[in-house]
Amino acid sequence: MPTKIALVGIGKIAIDQHVPAIAASPDWDLAATVSRKGSVDGTPAFTDFDAMLAARPDIPVISLCLPPVPRFDYAQKALLAGRHVMLEKPPGATLAEVHALQTLAAANGLTLYATWHSRMAQAVAPAKAWLTGKTITRAHITWREDVRKWHPGQDWVFEPGGMGVFDPGINALSILTEILPAPVHLTAATLTFPENRQTPIAANLTFSGNVSAEFDWRQTGPQTWDIEVDTPQGHLALRMGGNVLEIDGKPISGKASIMGEYPALYAVMAKLVREQASVVDLGPMVHVADAMTLGQRLQSEPFFF
Ligand code: NAP
Repeated sequence: MPTKIALVGIGKIAIDQHVPAIAASPDWDLAATVSRKGSVDGTPAFTDFDAMLAARPDIPVISLCLPPVPRFDYAQKALLAGRHVMLEKPPGATLAEVHALQTLAAANGLTLYATWHSRMAQAVAPAKAWLTGKTITRAHITWREDVRKWHPGQDWVFEPGGMGVFDPGINALSILTEILPAPVHLTAATLTFPENRQTPIAANLTFSGNVSAEFDWRQTGPQTWDIEVDTPQGHLALRMGGNVLEIDGKPISGKASIMGEYPALYAVMAKLVREQASVVDLGPMVHVADAMTLGQRLQSEPFFF
């Protein structure tokens, strides 16, 4: 018997990934949407979250696809109304607000799942297995994409709390923190802000352990989502956002598709609800917060969509 779920914030990622993943899953029945403008054909649509919570006590699970800044209020209301909650990445606009949600979920015996879709990329688990027990001598992330392609017209990414280039960069950090055998911490950062924007469009990060990262939202043409790791036993490369694994330049596994990531997230959520458990790992977001704390600020030309 599928569990009823409501999807909140029917925008780009809801339509691209959440709706197809829920529709294809035997675990879930999309029972309502909440969005001021968006809706899904054939699904009861609400424009007001309080109204949905009041009208649909039969829906025990809420999946929040809103941008990070408005998400906290929705998550808090959902938990206070006794619903389990699934959060898009990044799990919040601040670390403290996610801690508050964790406390609230635990106090009410509810599931809180802070998702990291890139951790579900096909080659991440094999990469983690290959690196287990090895010494990392160097690691480097190159995450370069075109903000106009992936966030068309989404001004929120450049508003305070929108995280700028860390919105995709945190996906790389979610993989890094998953696959490295030992934790690293940020030691320096350079953040490039367009002169008319509140968040960075590019960032260079330095971590302990000879680990580094470059994020850039100004790449046109082919996109680059690579993580390279050197060990005494060989060179690992994760390409296509964690979906393709190479060892010493030879393809080992995976294919260039992210379409398995969201079905995997919804399968985990079903299990967490069944087991009355929560998963909230803030490790990737700690690195972003540290970069914002330590980062040296550079200015670039104005950015317009
Ligand atoms: P989006 O399309 O700009 O926003 C999703 C929906 O949230 C909007 O359509 C809007 O729906 C609602 N919304 C926006 N601002 C709101 C506000 N202030 N108050 C209430 N509702 C608001 O964003 P998105 O690209 O789907 O991203 C949403 C989240 O998914 C982000 O955290 C992002 O990091 C993550 N994500 C995005 C992608 C991607 O490719 N874009 C990939 C993976 C993960 P209504 O106007 O209908 O209310």
